[in-house]
Amino acid sequence: MKLLRRFLLLVSLAVSADAQTPATSKEVESVYPEAHALYLDLHQNPELSSHETQTAAKLAARLRSLDYEVTEHVGGTGVVAVLKNGAGPTVMLRTELDALPVEEKTGLSYASHVHTRDDAGRDVPVMHACGHDLHMASLAGTAEIMAHSKQSWHGTLLLIGQPAEETISGAERMIKDGLLTRFPKPDVAVALHVGNLLPAGEVGVVPGILSTNANSLRITIYGKGGHGSAPHTTIDPIVIAARTILALQTIPSREVKPGEMAVVTVGYIRAGTKNNIIPDQAELGLTVRSYKAEVRKQVLAAITRITKAEAEAGGAPREPLIEELESTDSVYNDPGLAQRLRGALESALGKDNVVMDEAHTGSEDFSYFVEQGIPGFYFNLGGADPEKFAQAKAAGTMLPSNHSPLFTPDVDPALHTGIIAEVAVLRNLLQGSAEELRKCCHP
Ligand SMILES: [Zn+2]
Ligand SMILES: [Zn+2]
Repeated sequence: MKLLRRFLLLVSLAVSADAQTPATSKEVESVYPEAHALYLDLHQNPELSSHETQTAAKLAARLRSLDYEVTEHVGGTGVVAVLKNGAGPTVMLRTELDALPVEEKTGLSYASHVHTRDDAGRDVPVMHACGHDLHMASLAGTAEIMAHSKQSWHGTLLLIGQPAEETISGAERMIKDGLLTRFPKPDVAVALHVGNLLPAGEVGVVPGILSTNANSLRITIYGKGGHGSAPHTTIDPIVIAARTILALQTIPSREVKPGEMAVVTVGYIRAGTKNNIIPDQAELGLTVRSYKAEVRKQVLAAITRITKAEAEAGGAPREPLIEELESTDSVYNDPGLAQRLRGALESALGKDNVVMDEAHTGSEDFSYFVEQGIPGFYFNLGGADPEKFAQAKAAGTMLPSNHSPLFTPDVDPALHTGIIAEVAVLRNLLQGSAEELRKCCHP
């Protein structure tokens, strides 16, 4: 609570007659109870990717009650809410809707106990282990402040609730379903993500590349099955797979230039049924990460070359099958936009609470919006309890990361900061004309 009071003091000190005034403490406090109640509701009722029906309905109802023009079922369970306020730029703010098949072990009074069936029919626990519930609550609070302060901005505000971020499919589906043609096309797209790498109360800005390119591959290696006691009559795909896995590790360590980011992880290997049977095929599941497009190309080409050559070396009867499953590009923050909005965030939160952050190895399908030619600004929202954060730092340990069963954002300061930051960013962008905004940010 002490921290909270510090914020409120800070935001009330920052009030000025300027058109880009940060949210006042009165504005934030007037929307906070409902935003917090929405957070608790969403946290206790999480839904898996592409199944966010109740979540989407709750968000849509909330935005409709604030007089946004709301369209549901965009690209599946996606929500689009438009608020027009005269001439000016169109700015999009995005939240994700989905939760994860993780069993919550936080012990919180409002912990999720939800179980459901996943797409394969298995019973799985469900938890908002990535903090998307906090993103939705923050967007709802921001939506209310923006709707009640139309004198502080002009243009068109486009709020979207995107399904299936965790399966890297929702952004693409919304675009395919007409997000950019049926609704006003954004001049800039904005999103935030909460995490434990920063204490609650702070935000992190990264100009340029923010996250990694991701490629998921499935490789099937073919052999010739037979009796385990007679390997000479078979071609063992498990041995070929084992050699392939080890050889793939030489791509980041021997082929990619030292200092460039490249990850090749074999996340699973599936082959065989019984000790004394040599199977006729083996399957590998890979995730491949990189920052740069040329490194991505180099790594994917090397995976194909090594996999084929190892199969040939092992005498495989057929070339291996290499299938590309989901993939996404790295998220790129327009540097001009990042520079401009860093200033807006500093005025709203105080200079000490805005840090220059570094790119991370995760991936995000927010890149699909940026690829449509829309400059993006994606920033990090501190979620860690500041005291626990300081203790962990002193001890050289890490707090539970996103996707952990123990992931627990410090809701009060993180949600307050999320709302203040989003309002500051939107008020900054929703000034002047669309032409001026485009000129400012990508010359
Ligand atoms: Zn996640
Ligand atoms: Zn996430």
